Amino acid sequence: MSTGTMSDRRQIGIAVAGFAFQERNATMTRLFAGTPFDRPPKCEACGELVQACVCPPPEPERVPPQRQRVKIAIEKRKRGKVVTALRGLSAEGGTADLLSRLKSVCGAGGTFKDGILEIQGDHGDRVRATLSQLGYRVDG
Ligand SMILES: [Zn+2]
Repeated sequence: MSTGTMSDRRQIGIAVAGFAFQERNATMTRLFAGTPFDRPPKCEACGELVQACVCPPPEPERVPPQRQRVKIAIEKRKRGKVVTALRGLSAEGGTADLLSRLKSVCGAGGTFKDGILEIQGDHGDRVRATLSQLGYRVDG
């Protein structure tokens, strides 16, 4: 698209201010209408064009606690270490939040690895109570 020089555009602007603006918009519309460039998709979060957007990908939808059946077991690990192990949690169900909640409730360390959430020590009762409070369906 030829835009002319600055002074050309200023002269047009002075001569027919309103008309020049309308004319330019009409040209844009015709130029892009019906092509993939017509109204390119923009990111809803940052407003940038999708190609230019650097937003992190949206979080996957969480599986609510009510749809997760968790099995609690007290198990022995290496060197006689006892852990409270939770199986059946959905990886898309907010396991990081649950882990930090349980660690704080039990006052113990813990991990989530290979689909198993472990809290160090025997905390079956506290873990069961916390899970029930949050709405999880608990076995064991
Ligand atoms: Zn974005």
